[in-house]
Amino acid sequence: MNRFAIADCTSVDAALSQLKDGAVVKAGGVDLLDRMKDGIEQPEKLVNIRNISGLRGIHETDQGLTIGPLTTLAEISDHPLIRSHYQILSDACGHAATPHIRNMATVGGNLLQRVQCWYYRSSDFQCIRKGKDLCFAFEGLNQYHAIMEYATCPSVAPSSAAVALLGLNASVELSAAKRGKRTVGIRELYVVPDANPTKFTVIEPDDLLTAIVIPKPAAGTRSAYQKYGEKESFDWAIADAGVVLEMDGGICRRAVITMGAASPVVRRATQAEAALAGKPITEETARAAGQVAVQGAQPLSMNSYKLDLFPVAVYRTILYAAGQRDRDPGAAG
Ligand SMILES: Cc1cc2nc3c(=O)[nH]c(=O)nc-3n(C[C@H](O)[C@H](O)[C@H](O)COP(=O)(O)OP(=O)(O)OC[C@H]3O[C@@H](n4cnc5c(N)ncnc54)[C@H](O)[C@@H]3O)c2cc1C
Repeated sequence: MNRFAIADCTSVDAALSQLKDGAVVKAGGVDLLDRMKDGIEQPEKLVNIRNISGLRGIHETDQGLTIGPLTTLAEISDHPLIRSHYQILSDACGHAATPHIRNMATVGGNLLQRVQCWYYRSSDFQCIRKGKDLCFAFEGLNQYHAIMEYATCPSVAPSSAAVALLGLNASVELSAAKRGKRTVGIRELYVVPDANPTKFTVIEPDDLLTAIVIPKPAAGTRSAYQKYGEKESFDWAIADAGVVLEMDGGICRRAVITMGAASPVVRRATQAEAALAGKPITEETARAAGQVAVQGAQPLSMNSYKLDLFPVAVYRTILYAAGQRDRDPGAAG
């Protein structure tokens, strides 16, 4: 790990003024310090934002919720209002990583963590996401990689919180000393590798993510998230699904279905959403929606098991969101 300077900031303005000359934001440090310890990044200066109290907390507004980016995954998953009205987010933050990590990891850092592809994460491999012209996963070990939307790089979206926040139609507020504030939707936050393999998000080096804004759910909304992994805990998803159902009595007026570990950036399964709209939620409609969620998927040499896993994840999460099933005991986290 390289030597680095650290600027401890207690206000947003102080942090913004430090974000220049290659300085990098550190929140909980879980992902950033891993990248540094693994030798894939050597920033000369970190801007520690962890002590900016104004960037922490969950606030209810007339429009919905505003969450400070330094709020930890544990604080979000345990919050009574989130548990009662935004279950998808409570599920996602409460089943990411491990209890220790959830106490340290911030939701802003969770959204901005880099992909877990082992070729990207190893300093021995200079891949397309590090500015070279080769992806090792296409010919190499690709069992955890993408099955959809991956022409350039099949690494998968790692953030559980993003799967939930896309389902909730959330956006983030970005602040920069020179440009002021701007708002970006969760899907638009991420840059697909086909467009630019070395740029993971639209965040510029001098930007700070300063808020997450979630609109108030429509009346009759129910939601859930489930993550499936190789083991119970201490790992990222190999398949995860978020489901938001706007119900009119027994009929689903509108569904939003999101998938994490299927593609390089978090995606909506719009065909699965259409399969539920205007229908009652039953075993049959949930299974049909799960099946179409992987329509068009093209697995790599080692991950065709995801063609079976994602339909099950989506189907079981729909029934869980609808209150027709408990959380799947086979789900991870
Ligand atoms: C064993 C293990 C299992 C895990 N399992 C899961 C899982 O199942 N699901 C899941 O979602 N995650 C999982 N994680 C990832 C973990 O949740 C993230 O690493 C963590 O949330 C990152 O948050 P942080 O506050 O530590 O971010 P940091 O490491 O501090 O920052 C991460 C990145 O975001 C940038 N950044 C952070 N905050 C801001 C901000 N406000 N403005 C601008 N840039 C910012 C940093 O510069 C850095 O590039 C796992 C991690 C481990 C080690």
